[in-house]
Amino acid sequence: MKKSLFITLTLVTLLFIAFSFSSTLINAEDDGDKLKEDLERIKEAQASLSNDMELTEEEIKEIEEAHARLEQEIRRVDMQIAEAINNIEEKNIEIAAIELEIEELKKDIEILVERLKLRDELLKNRMRSIQENGGTIDYLNVILGAKSFGDFLDRVSAVTTIVEQDKLIIKRHQEEMEQLQELKSSLSTKLNDLEQQLIELQALNEQLNQQRFEKEEFMAQLQLKHDELHQMLEEQEEDAETLAAEKAATEKALANWEEKKRKEAEEAKKRKELEDRSGLPAGTFIRPSQGRVTSEYGPRWGGTHTGIDLARIGFMESAVASAGGVVFKAEYYGGYGNVVFITHNIQGFTFTTTYAHLDRIDVSVGQEVEQGQHLGIVGNTGYSTGPHLHFELIEGDWSSRYEKRVNPRKYIIF
Ligand SMILES: [Zn+2]
Repeated sequence: MKKSLFITLTLVTLLFIAFSFSSTLINAEDDGDKLKEDLERIKEAQASLSNDMELTEEEIKEIEEAHARLEQEIRRVDMQIAEAINNIEEKNIEIAAIELEIEELKKDIEILVERLKLRDELLKNRMRSIQENGGTIDYLNVILGAKSFGDFLDRVSAVTTIVEQDKLIIKRHQEEMEQLQELKSSLSTKLNDLEQQLIELQALNEQLNQQRFEKEEFMAQLQLKHDELHQMLEEQEEDAETLAAEKAATEKALANWEEKKRKEAEEAKKRKELEDRSGLPAGTFIRPSQGRVTSEYGPRWGGTHTGIDLARIGFMESAVASAGGVVFKAEYYGGYGNVVFITHNIQGFTFTTTYAHLDRIDVSVGQEVEQGQHLGIVGNTGYSTGPHLHFELIEGDWSSRYEKRVNPRKYIIF
C-alpha cells in the first residue's frame, strides 16, 4: 500500500511538472494518447479500489454483527453464572440448616440415650429382684400374700400391670433407639447429597467462567480484526484521494493538450486562409507593433481609413519593419506626423508599408532594414488623438496608393 502511494505521489508530481511546462513537453500526438491511457488506467484503479473498499466495509459489517451476537451470548452465560451462584448460596443455607438440625437431633439423642439408660437400669434392677426371688414365684407370693379377696384382686392387677408396663417400656425403648438411628442415617445421607450438589455447582461455575474467558478472548480478537480493517479502510480512502488528485491533474493536462492542439489547428487554418488570400507564404509580412487593433482598415467617419491602428503598449514601444526592404521616406509628413515609408521587393513584386504617428524616428532614408528591425517609437504625432501606430500596406509603389492600398489583414494575422 505504501509503495503504491509513493508511485502515485511520484506520478502526481510528474503530471504537475508536465502540466506546468505543458507547452514544451506536450508536443507530439503521442502525448495526448499517453494522457488518455493514463486517465483510463486511473479510472480502472479507482473502480478496483472502490470495489476493495466495498469488500472491506462488508467485512467490517460482518465482524460487527458477529460482535453483537457474541455480546448476546456472553450476557446469556453471565446470567447462567449468576443463577449458578444463587443456587450455590441456597445450597449453602440449606446445608447450614441441616447441620443445625443434626446438632439438635444429636442433643435429643443424648437426652433419649440418658433416659433409656436410666430405664435400662430400672429394668435390670427389676429383673434382678425377680431372679433373686426365683422368677415369677415372687409375683405369686405377692398375689398369695393378699389379706382379703379385694386385696388379692388388686395385687393380681398390680402385678399384671407391672409386667405389661415393663414390656411396653422395653418395646418403646427399642423403637425409639431404632427411630433415632434411622433419623441419623437419613440426615447423614441428605448431607452427603447436598455436599455432592455443591461440588457439582462449583464445577459448573468453573466451566461457565472458562466459557466466558474464551468468549472474551475471541471478542478481543474480533476487536483487533475490526481495528485492522478500519485502518485498512482509512488507507484505502487515502489512496482514493490520491487517485482523485491524480485524475484531476491528468484531466487538466489532457485539456491543456487539447486546447493547444485546437489553437494550433486554428492557427494553421488562419495561415492557410492567409496564404490562399495573399498568394504568399505566411510570415512574409509581420505585425509592425504588438498592441491590439483599435481601428480597422475601411470606411470610417464618412471617409476611408487607409490603414489599421494598433494601440501602444507601454512607453517606448518599437515600431518594426513588417518585411525586409529599403527606407525611402523618414520625416514629419502632414497628418502622418513622424512617419517611415519602406519599399519591399518580394518575389518580383513591389510593396510599400507606412508607419505613422511615431514619437521618434530611428532610421534614415536609403537605409536597408530587415524584417522585425526597429524603426522608431510608437507615438502620438500628426492627426492622432492617442498614442498608436497607423500602419498601411500598398500592393505596389507609393504612387499607386489610391488603387492598390489593401487591408493589411490580407497579409498579416493580427
Ligand atoms: Zn489610422
